[in-house]
Amino acid sequence: MKLLIPGPVTTRPEVRAAAGHDFAPWDDSFRPPYQAMRRGIARIAGDVLASHAVLPLQGAGHFSIEAALRSFLPQGGRILVPLTGSYANRMARLAREAGRSVIPLPASETEPLDPARVAGALAADPTISHVGLVYSETSTGIVHDPDAIGTVVAAAGRRIILDAVSAFGALPLDLRRRPEIDAAVFTPNKCLEGLPGLAVTIARIDALLATSPRQAGSWSFDLRDIHEGGERDGWGSFRFTPPAQIVNALAVALDLHAAEGGAPARLARYRENARVVFEGMAAIGLQPCLAAAAQGPIVVNVLAPGDPSWSLDRFVAALKARGFLISNFYNTERPSFRVGCIGAIGPDDMHGFVAAADAVLDEIGVRVRAPSP
Ligand SMILES: *Cc1c(COP(=O)(O)O)cnc(C)c1O
Repeated sequence: MKLLIPGPVTTRPEVRAAAGHDFAPWDDSFRPPYQAMRRGIARIAGDVLASHAVLPLQGAGHFSIEAALRSFLPQGGRILVPLTGSYANRMARLAREAGRSVIPLPASETEPLDPARVAGALAADPTISHVGLVYSETSTGIVHDPDAIGTVVAAAGRRIILDAVSAFGALPLDLRRRPEIDAAVFTPNKCLEGLPGLAVTIARIDALLATSPRQAGSWSFDLRDIHEGGERDGWGSFRFTPPAQIVNALAVALDLHAAEGGAPARLARYRENARVVFEGMAAIGLQPCLAAAAQGPIVVNVLAPGDPSWSLDRFVAALKARGFLISNFYNTERPSFRVGCIGAIGPDDMHGFVAAADAVLDEIGVRVRAPSP
């Protein structure tokens, strides 16, 4: 089965095999994979182990986004969140429920965020300390530009919390050149092609240590405490039981990432995957959601056909019978199905998917493939 979803992604057998060992997480045998994980991640982020901490947290990506929001903003602290799609909405909710003040910035779902709008919102409100930015909006497939936005945020003397969950390991991110980023968050089970169960924040050490101790208001989600605990015990283990098997699998996935040629090579493969899907869908009469210029390499959304016999559930089930699993829900304003282009898959798989989609539409009786107006 090929998982054509934007995480958890299809993985290589070597990665899954690495999860098949028993570990005592406090034992010395856990150190080498944990150290390899920290080094590999810091290398991808621009070789930043001297200036940045690699802070893992058990659980899903949302947990680390919440931890970053709590750890870098005090109670009542103010964050501008450009509402670029459903993952930006999630960041806003995490911040709000943690008692931080969210200043929403309405934004388009179909075009990249305009840095001038962020600059304007920051100029209008000097009490905003941070911008919460989603790098790759996994709900629509648009990639926003952390360099262009970072430049205006830095010029305004503010900071960024970056949701890089579906970007890290493929899209460029050099934290040495982006000092306004306090925290960049990701999970292993997207572009790093590892397993789920862990989330990671790469945080500026000076900025983290400039926050008040315990401002997170939650021991579980306190990045400063994770950092100080790691420094105290020499980064031998986590504060609480780590998902040791997942860390071991991530160490293997990072070796495979380096062997492939790092983030640039991975991005090139994903871009080609996305191109095959984008052009293939148009060739069989379906309409991608985005204009080609706005289409990112991580997911391609395709507008639901207007035919009355269209059913997303039947489409997904018939594709699954042919070996391809796509998301079974809509998360854009106009209904669209979502095809993930990341994971241990290549252009041949994507050609196979296009052919399967073409056959399945006939099979479920969809004659009109154009979307409803
Ligand atoms: C996948 C994803 C997340 C986090 O998802 P979890 O289910 O919490 O791991 C957050 N932001 C973006 C942009 C994502 O793609």
